[in-house]
Amino acid sequence: MIRMPRAAHEHLSPTGVPPLAPLPTYPDVVVIGAGAAGIGAARRLLARGLSVAVLEARLRLGGRTVTTSLRGHPVDLGAHWLHAGPINPLVALGLARGEPLRRAAQENHLWVGRRPGRPAEEAAFGRAWAVADRAMTDGARLHGEDRAAASALPPGLGPWGQRVALVHGLVSGRPLTEVSLHDFPSMEYGDNFFIAGGYGAYLARLAAGLPVALATPVTALDWAGQGVRLDLGARGTLRARAALVTAPMMVMQEPAPALRFAPDLPGPVRAAIDGFRTGIYEHVVLHWPSSPFRGRDRLASLIGGRLQPPGLLTRVDGTPFHYFELDVPLARRLDAARAGADGARRLVRETLAEQVGRGCLRDLAVPAVTEWRHDPWSRGSWAVVPPGHTGARDLLKEAVGERIWFAGEALSREQWGTAGGAYAEGERAADAIAAALH
Ligand SMILES: Cc1cc2nc3c(=O)[nH]c(=O)nc-3n(C[C@H](O)[C@H](O)[C@H](O)COP(=O)(O)OP(=O)(O)OC[C@H]3O[C@@H](n4cnc5c(N)ncnc54)[C@H](O)[C@@H]3O)c2cc1C
Repeated sequence: MIRMPRAAHEHLSPTGVPPLAPLPTYPDVVVIGAGAAGIGAARRLLARGLSVAVLEARLRLGGRTVTTSLRGHPVDLGAHWLHAGPINPLVALGLARGEPLRRAAQENHLWVGRRPGRPAEEAAFGRAWAVADRAMTDGARLHGEDRAAASALPPGLGPWGQRVALVHGLVSGRPLTEVSLHDFPSMEYGDNFFIAGGYGAYLARLAAGLPVALATPVTALDWAGQGVRLDLGARGTLRARAALVTAPMMVMQEPAPALRFAPDLPGPVRAAIDGFRTGIYEHVVLHWPSSPFRGRDRLASLIGGRLQPPGLLTRVDGTPFHYFELDVPLARRLDAARAGADGARRLVRETLAEQVGRGCLRDLAVPAVTEWRHDPWSRGSWAVVPPGHTGARDLLKEAVGERIWFAGEALSREQWGTAGGAYAEGERAADAIAAALH
């Protein structure tokens, strides 16, 4: 048997755990998971007058959003961008609460072969983005049959086109050869925000006062009789009228789900869950005071050279912190070599030495490397829709047996894979549950 390594970020603790309320003994609704979807749902269910118990497997809140403290600075190990400002409920709520949101910079860095890109190169890169994005949007609209998003990319875009595909593959969670074309254009990326103090810390603040039990994994959900009965291992059982499941798709997938259903879910629901692919996106957190990249919160595209970072966010909130992102091919390479976090550190140094020169790396430190793909409560960064699986997000919005609902990033069409999408889905499911139970 292959033993999965422990996720390298697991020992890093969150910056804050707010006070939580005790659980009711027989809640109307039990919410499985205290990530963005679970927090959004619990707040909305309570506001609708229902009693709620949130059960969370981890010792902390926030799921795939968590802020830790590195060298005295708050640093997000999961979600960091508040994407899609105009439709992201966490932006609207943050503005209403007076949270310290800031708009993401529009300026980016382009480096080509160890020097800043020239105006003609920047223009060529911009054209490649526009052509590729139009081709994929049109491809999704014009062709009836779903196929890989990569197949819509026009040939002849050269190295700029390859770079565009690499970045889209990173932010999609898998190479575009494995991503549904029909699902792809649904992401609304414009108008992003960041939040001072970290996204994870913000989500934890939103959970203050909610009835959450931490360190309480649900191993089975029994819906054979009336309502639902949750198996909590050594902690016994809990009954409720209905359940909202926000565990990541990967955690529920056969053949070894960490959360079982008894009786098993209806065939189409089971197929919808199992058909998602594991998205991979990992942060290698750099502390790099003398980095050649200036300006706050800018993305850098480093082109030319054998090794290229698929994503680099520089000078986060004006600090020396940078994120070097790992995509599927890089994570796969590290895992095949069983290289772990130290392998990621070597890879970053090797890549940046090639791109900016070894002399620029003298004060580079790598204080954290994430491994969400090896974390037992996420098993990946987000769920990806492969070609032919587009119906899954909507199918999972239907209640099962009038007592089980699903929510989470995987169900969001327009904000897929994001914390804002997960929160919105939590609220949507809460409204559906309230309508059914009242
Ligand atoms: C490195 C990285 C960077 C990212 N960057 C961004 C970004 O910049 N912007 C963005 O919007 N999104 C980003 N994302 C994605 C975003 O973090 C997720 O889409 C979002 O947080 C998912 O929220 P959720 O509520 O659906 O799931 P989760 O946050 O995973 O919450 C589910 C909860 O269920 C719990 N759970 C699982 N199984 C059980 C069980 N059996 N019993 C009890 N509890 C259980 C888990 O512990 C977890 O707390 C990133 C993700 C990663 C990994």
